[in-house]
Amino acid sequence: MADITVIGGGIAGLSAAITAAERGAGVALLEAHEETGGRARSTDGPYRANLGPHVLYKDGPLWAWLDERGLLPACARPPFSGMRVRWEGELRRTPPLAAVPTVLRLRGRDAPVDRSFREWVADHSDEKTAAMLSAAAGVYTFHHDPGSLSAAFVWPRTVRTLLSPPPTVRYPIGGWSALVATMESRARELGVHVRTGARVTELPDGPVVVATELHEAARLLGDPSVTWTSGRTLCLDLGLRTRRGDPFIVFDLDEAGWVERFTAPDPTLAPDGEELFQAQMPMRPDEDADAAAARLERLLDASVEGWRDRVTWRRRQVMDGRSGALDLPGTTWRDRPAVDRGDGVFLAGDMVAAPGLLSEVAWASGVEAATLATAAVPAGVG
Ligand SMILES: Cc1cc2nc3c(=O)[nH]c(=O)nc-3n(C[C@H](O)[C@H](O)[C@H](O)COP(=O)(O)OP(=O)(O)OC[C@H]3O[C@@H](n4cnc5c(N)ncnc54)[C@H](O)[C@@H]3O)c2cc1C
Repeated sequence: MADITVIGGGIAGLSAAITAAERGAGVALLEAHEETGGRARSTDGPYRANLGPHVLYKDGPLWAWLDERGLLPACARPPFSGMRVRWEGELRRTPPLAAVPTVLRLRGRDAPVDRSFREWVADHSDEKTAAMLSAAAGVYTFHHDPGSLSAAFVWPRTVRTLLSPPPTVRYPIGGWSALVATMESRARELGVHVRTGARVTELPDGPVVVATELHEAARLLGDPSVTWTSGRTLCLDLGLRTRRGDPFIVFDLDEAGWVERFTAPDPTLAPDGEELFQAQMPMRPDEDADAAAARLERLLDASVEGWRDRVTWRRRQVMDGRSGALDLPGTTWRDRPAVDRGDGVFLAGDMVAAPGLLSEVAWASGVEAATLATAAVPAGVG
């Protein structure tokens, strides 16, 4: 018999299971799919495309936690060259210099919670610069209009991910499945009973950590108020025959999309002579996948020469509500669905009340939920 049940084996559930087991609890982790990892899984076969995440942030708490435990997989650094920017319909090799004075003026300032990012930037510069800096945040918000989000949400993340050289992004070699494998092994070593192919339909007796996606957690908790804002984006993974001169990354300052060649840092992701790209375009409200795909293909036409004739593999998916929490003006992470639900039930995942960037939220809430769940184990058990 386990002291604590963890439902869901993504980054949140694995972090929770490891934390609870390290604190001495007996843990059962139940995962609906045949493999753990959730969105952090990569495809099998010659193209190792990640379902969701691509980069770990070396300056963040998830990295430090993995490092302390010897769980970091081998990681690659981003290449030094190959950046492109689409701005006002043109492809450039450098970001528009006009934004530099605004960036310098805003650096070090506390952005307000209750104003939108676009309004706040426009107060300190002009509408055009505000639109450009807003669209740059598409790369980590997956939102069609990042400028409409809280300034306090967007600005620190933009500074951290885009404006703090040298870059702290790292790419797990072989894709995120490599990281999931080290986390699952660690959990098993600690005695966690990992059961895959085990979809939970009702909450077991507590303490229990619900580490599913948020809509599934709302169903299990029987609480439709468990919701939060997230992105809706069209992702196109492409295998392309190699061509010299392909960009590494294209920031789309017109429409908040981006294109990235993941074989630039990690050539193991595709067969020899081929490249693995992912291009993504946040979908507008009421826009269908074909219309967003048409906009995305125009970005590819502008930035990756001859891509249509080089395709060897493709996968298209809409990621709706699956790319992490977004805070609207007037809200912060503290307003998201709480970790402690009462009666020995705890919530973890990338849309709950925990700080951090993208999967760091899943990790932080997993650790918090497991710490509270361990404290809730009745004395004498375990
Ligand atoms: C396109 C895209 C790009 C991203 N890029 C990055 C990035 O570069 N860096 C980064 O840090 N983050 C990134 N993210 C975010 C990252 O993918 C997520 O934050 C993270 O994977 C969420 O982990 P999780 O454990 O909260 O949820 P999930 O990974 O969704 O795990 C939930 C698990 O619960 C299981 N489950 C669901 N229902 C049940 C049930 N009833 N019973 C049992 N099990 C159940 C599911 O099968 C799943 O395995 C990206 C996301 C997307 C979509």
